[in-house]
Amino acid sequence: MKYIGAHVSAAGGVENAPERAKEIGATGFALFTKNQRQWKAKPLTEENITQFKKRCEEYGYSMETVIPHDSYLINLGHPENEKLQKSRDAFLDELQRCEQLGIELLNFHPGSHLKQISEKECLKIIADSINWSLDQTKTVKAVIENTAGQGTNMGYRFEQLAEIMKQVEQKDRVGVCVDTAHAFAAGYDISTEDGFVDTFEQFDSIVGFDNLLAMHLNDSKKELGSKVDRHESLGDGLIGWTLFELIMKDDRFDGIPLILETPNPDRWPEEIQKLKDLM
Ligand SMILES: [Zn+2]
Ligand SMILES: [Zn+2]
Repeated sequence: MKYIGAHVSAAGGVENAPERAKEIGATGFALFTKNQRQWKAKPLTEENITQFKKRCEEYGYSMETVIPHDSYLINLGHPENEKLQKSRDAFLDELQRCEQLGIELLNFHPGSHLKQISEKECLKIIADSINWSLDQTKTVKAVIENTAGQGTNMGYRFEQLAEIMKQVEQKDRVGVCVDTAHAFAAGYDISTEDGFVDTFEQFDSIVGFDNLLAMHLNDSKKELGSKVDRHESLGDGLIGWTLFELIMKDDRFDGIPLILETPNPDRWPEEIQKLKDLM
Protein backbone atom coordinates (compact mmCIF):
# COMPACT_ATOMS: atom_id res chain seq x y z
CA MET A 1 0.00 0.00 0.00
CA LYS A 2 1.27 3.44 -0.92
CA TYR A 3 0.00 6.61 0.71
CA ILE A 4 0.05 9.45 -1.79
CA GLY A 5 -0.78 13.03 -0.94
CA ALA A 6 0.35 16.63 -0.78
CA HIS A 7 1.27 19.29 1.73
CA VAL A 8 -2.19 20.79 2.20
CA SER A 9 -3.20 24.05 3.83
CA ALA A 10 -4.23 24.13 7.49
CA ALA A 11 -5.63 27.65 7.20
CA GLY A 12 -8.45 28.23 9.67
CA GLY A 13 -7.23 25.36 11.90
CA VAL A 14 -5.46 22.01 11.63
CA GLU A 15 -8.84 20.30 11.58
CA ASN A 16 -9.38 21.65 8.04
CA ALA A 17 -6.42 19.78 6.58
CA PRO A 18 -7.96 16.27 6.31
CA GLU A 19 -10.85 17.55 4.21
CA ARG A 20 -8.50 19.39 1.86
CA ALA A 21 -6.53 16.18 1.47
CA LYS A 22 -9.70 14.24 0.74
CA GLU A 23 -10.76 16.76 -1.92
CA ILE A 24 -7.61 16.16 -3.97
CA GLY A 25 -7.86 12.37 -3.79
CA ALA A 26 -4.97 12.01 -1.34
CA THR A 27 -4.45 8.86 0.74
CA GLY A 28 -2.00 10.66 3.07
CA PHE A 29 -1.02 14.28 3.69
CA ALA A 30 1.39 16.81 5.17
CA LEU A 31 0.55 20.08 6.93
CA PHE A 32 1.88 22.77 9.23
CA THR A 33 0.41 22.54 12.73
CA LYS A 34 1.15 26.26 13.23
CA ASN A 35 2.05 29.25 11.05
CA GLN A 36 5.39 28.20 9.58
CA ARG A 37 6.75 31.73 9.36
CA GLN A 38 6.21 32.71 12.99
CA TRP A 39 7.99 31.62 16.16
CA LYS A 40 5.02 31.65 18.46
CA ALA A 41 1.65 30.06 17.96
CA LYS A 42 -1.52 29.79 19.97
CA PRO A 43 -1.81 26.42 21.68
CA LEU A 44 -4.13 23.95 19.98
CA THR A 45 -7.61 23.97 21.48
CA GLU A 46 -9.58 20.90 22.53
CA GLU A 47 -11.83 21.63 19.55
CA ASN A 48 -8.86 21.65 17.10
CA ILE A 49 -7.63 18.35 18.50
CA THR A 50 -10.96 16.53 18.65
CA GLN A 51 -12.06 17.64 15.20
CA PHE A 52 -8.69 16.80 13.63
CA LYS A 53 -8.75 13.27 15.03
CA LYS A 54 -12.41 12.79 14.17
CA ARG A 55 -11.95 13.87 10.55
CA CYS A 56 -8.80 11.81 10.03
CA GLU A 57 -10.74 8.79 11.16
CA GLU A 58 -13.79 9.68 9.10
CA TYR A 59 -11.74 10.13 5.90
CA GLY A 60 -9.58 7.09 6.54
CA TYR A 61 -6.24 8.77 7.32
CA SER A 62 -4.45 6.50 9.76
CA MET A 63 -1.62 8.19 11.64
CA GLU A 64 1.09 6.49 9.57
CA THR A 65 -0.15 8.53 6.58
CA VAL A 66 0.18 11.99 8.17
CA ILE A 67 3.46 13.90 8.41
CA PRO A 68 3.61 17.56 9.47
CA HIS A 69 6.55 19.76 8.49
CA ASP A 70 8.08 22.05 11.11
CA SER A 71 8.57 25.83 10.83
CA TYR A 72 11.12 27.19 8.35
CA LEU A 73 12.58 29.41 11.09
CA ILE A 74 13.96 26.56 13.16
CA ASN A 75 17.71 25.81 12.93
CA LEU A 76 18.59 22.87 15.19
CA GLY A 77 22.27 23.25 14.27
CA HIS A 78 22.54 26.95 15.11
CA PRO A 79 26.08 27.89 16.19
CA GLU A 80 24.93 30.56 18.70
CA ASN A 81 23.54 29.36 22.03
CA GLU A 82 20.68 31.78 22.47
CA LYS A 83 19.34 31.31 18.96
CA LEU A 84 19.87 27.56 19.19
CA GLN A 85 17.74 27.46 22.33
CA LYS A 86 15.01 29.44 20.61
CA SER A 87 14.98 26.85 17.82
CA ARG A 88 14.99 23.95 20.26
CA ASP A 89 12.06 25.41 22.19
CA ALA A 90 10.10 25.90 18.97
CA PHE A 91 10.92 22.36 17.80
CA LEU A 92 9.81 20.90 21.12
CA ASP A 93 6.54 22.83 20.80
CA GLU A 94 6.06 21.30 17.32
CA LEU A 95 6.67 17.78 18.65
CA GLN A 96 4.21 18.39 21.49
CA ARG A 97 1.57 19.64 19.06
CA CYS A 98 2.00 16.41 17.08
CA GLU A 99 1.53 14.33 20.21
CA GLN A 100 -1.61 16.27 21.14
CA LEU A 101 -3.00 15.51 17.69
CA GLY A 102 -2.02 11.84 17.88
CA ILE A 103 0.48 12.34 15.04
CA GLU A 104 3.51 10.03 15.01
CA LEU A 105 5.92 11.81 12.64
CA LEU A 106 7.44 15.30 12.36
CA ASN A 107 9.53 16.21 9.34
CA PHE A 108 12.25 18.88 9.49
CA HIS A 109 15.35 20.17 7.72
CA PRO A 110 18.41 19.33 9.83
CA GLY A 111 20.00 22.77 10.24
CA SER A 112 22.63 25.21 8.98
CA HIS A 113 26.16 25.98 10.15
CA LEU A 114 26.04 29.62 8.93
CA LYS A 115 29.79 29.43 8.20
CA GLN A 116 30.51 29.82 11.92
CA ILE A 117 31.30 26.19 12.76
CA SER A 118 32.39 23.09 10.84
CA GLU A 119 29.90 20.69 9.25
CA LYS A 120 30.92 18.05 11.78
CA GLU A 121 30.20 20.35 14.72
CA CYS A 122 26.91 21.35 13.19
CA LEU A 123 25.82 17.70 12.81
CA LYS A 124 26.64 17.12 16.49
CA ILE A 125 24.55 20.13 17.58
CA ILE A 126 21.65 18.87 15.46
CA ALA A 127 21.83 15.43 17.07
CA ASP A 128 22.01 17.03 20.54
CA SER A 129 18.94 19.11 19.68
CA ILE A 130 17.03 16.00 18.66
CA ASN A 131 18.08 14.17 21.85
CA TRP A 132 17.05 17.14 24.00
CA SER A 133 13.62 17.29 22.34
CA LEU A 134 12.92 13.56 22.28
CA ASP A 135 13.73 13.34 25.99
CA GLN A 136 10.82 15.65 26.68
CA THR A 137 8.28 13.86 24.51
CA LYS A 138 7.09 10.28 24.36
CA THR A 139 6.00 8.91 21.02
CA VAL A 140 6.49 11.21 18.04
CA LYS A 141 9.41 10.43 15.70
CA ALA A 142 11.91 12.99 14.41
CA VAL A 143 12.07 12.64 10.61
CA ILE A 144 15.18 14.27 9.16
CA GLU A 145 14.84 15.50 5.57
CA ASN A 146 17.70 15.51 3.08
CA THR A 147 18.37 18.98 1.65
CA ALA A 148 19.62 20.43 -1.63
CA GLY A 149 22.64 21.80 0.24
CA GLN A 150 21.61 25.36 -0.51
CA GLY A 151 23.56 27.99 1.45
CA THR A 152 24.98 26.34 4.55
CA ASN A 153 22.20 23.75 4.95
CA MET A 154 23.36 20.39 6.24
CA GLY A 155 21.86 17.05 5.21
CA TYR A 156 22.68 17.11 1.49
CA ARG A 157 24.57 13.78 1.66
CA PHE A 158 23.10 10.51 2.93
CA GLU A 159 26.25 10.19 5.08
CA GLN A 160 25.23 13.35 6.96
CA LEU A 161 21.75 11.98 7.69
CA ALA A 162 23.35 8.76 8.91
CA GLU A 163 25.81 10.66 11.09
CA ILE A 164 22.99 12.56 12.82
CA MET A 165 21.01 9.35 13.36
CA LYS A 166 24.09 7.63 14.77
CA GLN A 167 24.28 10.27 17.50
CA VAL A 168 20.57 10.12 18.39
CA GLU A 169 19.98 8.04 21.50
CA GLN A 170 16.39 6.91 20.94
CA LYS A 171 17.00 5.00 17.70
CA ASP A 172 13.37 3.94 17.37
CA ARG A 173 12.28 7.58 17.31
CA VAL A 174 14.41 8.89 14.45
CA GLY A 175 14.31 8.34 10.69
CA VAL A 176 14.53 10.18 7.40
CA CYS A 177 12.44 11.68 4.64
CA VAL A 178 13.94 11.80 1.14
CA ASP A 179 12.93 14.77 -0.99
CA THR A 180 13.53 13.89 -4.65
CA ALA A 181 14.11 17.50 -5.80
CA HIS A 182 16.60 18.05 -2.99
CA ALA A 183 18.46 14.81 -3.77
CA PHE A 184 18.73 15.76 -7.46
CA ALA A 185 19.90 19.30 -6.71
CA ALA A 186 22.40 17.85 -4.25
CA GLY A 187 23.95 15.77 -7.04
CA TYR A 188 22.16 12.39 -6.93
CA ASP A 189 21.13 11.69 -10.52
CA ILE A 190 17.78 10.03 -10.04
CA SER A 191 16.48 11.10 -13.45
CA THR A 192 17.53 7.81 -15.09
CA GLU A 193 16.82 4.21 -14.10
CA ASP A 194 20.54 3.48 -13.59
CA GLY A 195 20.92 6.59 -11.45
CA PHE A 196 17.84 5.65 -9.41
CA VAL A 197 19.16 2.13 -8.77
CA ASP A 198 22.59 3.42 -7.80
CA THR A 199 21.29 6.24 -5.57
CA PHE A 200 18.94 4.02 -3.60
CA GLU A 201 21.61 1.31 -3.26
CA GLN A 202 23.78 3.96 -1.65
CA PHE A 203 20.83 5.10 0.45
CA ASP A 204 20.16 1.58 1.65
CA SER A 205 23.75 0.89 2.65
CA ILE A 206 24.31 4.29 4.32
CA VAL A 207 20.91 5.09 5.89
CA GLY A 208 18.86 1.92 5.36
CA PHE A 209 15.33 1.54 3.98
CA ASP A 210 14.15 0.61 7.49
CA ASN A 211 14.79 4.22 8.41
CA LEU A 212 12.88 5.69 5.47
CA LEU A 213 9.73 7.10 7.06
CA ALA A 214 8.49 9.41 4.28
CA MET A 215 9.23 10.81 0.82
CA HIS A 216 8.65 14.22 -0.73
CA LEU A 217 7.88 13.76 -4.41
CA ASN A 218 8.95 16.88 -6.29
CA ASP A 219 10.41 17.54 -9.70
CA SER A 220 13.26 20.08 -9.86
CA LYS A 221 13.49 23.38 -11.70
CA LYS A 222 17.27 23.40 -11.16
CA GLU A 223 20.02 21.22 -12.59
CA LEU A 224 21.65 18.15 -11.12
CA GLY A 225 24.14 19.26 -8.45
CA SER A 226 23.02 22.90 -8.60
CA LYS A 227 22.42 22.93 -4.82
CA VAL A 228 19.43 25.16 -5.47
CA ASP A 229 16.08 24.13 -3.97
CA ARG A 230 13.29 24.91 -6.49
CA HIS A 231 10.44 22.47 -6.79
CA GLU A 232 8.57 21.85 -10.04
CA SER A 233 5.36 19.98 -10.91
CA LEU A 234 5.97 16.30 -11.67
CA GLY A 235 7.19 15.80 -15.22
CA ASP A 236 7.76 19.51 -15.88
CA GLY A 237 11.22 19.69 -14.34
CA LEU A 238 14.64 18.23 -14.99
CA ILE A 239 13.95 14.91 -13.23
CA GLY A 240 10.92 13.74 -15.21
CA TRP A 241 8.36 10.95 -14.84
CA THR A 242 10.82 8.02 -15.04
CA LEU A 243 11.73 8.46 -11.38
CA PHE A 244 8.17 8.72 -10.12
CA GLU A 245 7.18 5.65 -12.11
CA LEU A 246 10.11 3.69 -10.62
CA ILE A 247 9.10 4.74 -7.10
CA MET A 248 5.47 3.79 -7.63
CA LYS A 249 6.43 0.30 -8.84
CA ASP A 250 8.93 -0.30 -6.01
CA ASP A 251 7.66 -1.88 -2.78
CA ARG A 252 10.53 -0.38 -0.74
CA PHE A 253 8.42 2.81 -0.78
CA ASP A 254 5.28 1.10 0.59
CA GLY A 255 3.62 2.03 3.86
CA ILE A 256 5.00 5.57 4.16
CA PRO A 257 3.55 8.96 3.19
CA LEU A 258 4.64 10.08 -0.31
CA ILE A 259 4.00 13.80 -0.31
CA LEU A 260 3.87 16.33 -3.14
CA GLU A 261 5.28 19.77 -2.43
CA THR A 262 4.94 20.80 -6.06
CA PRO A 263 4.25 24.47 -6.78
CA ASN A 264 0.79 24.31 -8.37
CA PRO A 265 -1.92 23.01 -6.01
CA ASP A 266 -4.45 23.06 -8.86
CA ARG A 267 -2.53 20.20 -10.41
CA TRP A 268 -2.35 18.03 -7.27
CA PRO A 269 -5.47 15.97 -8.10
CA GLU A 270 -4.03 15.16 -11.54
CA GLU A 271 -0.54 14.44 -10.17
CA ILE A 272 -1.94 12.17 -7.45
CA GLN A 273 -4.14 10.31 -9.93
CA LYS A 274 -1.23 9.80 -12.30
CA LEU A 275 0.92 8.42 -9.46
CA LYS A 276 -1.87 6.05 -8.45
CA ASP A 277 -2.21 4.86 -12.05
CA LEU A 278 1.50 4.04 -12.14
CA MET A 279 1.31 1.67 -9.17
ZN1 LIG B 1 10.62 18.54 1.07
ZN1 LIG C 1 12.53 22.03 -1.03
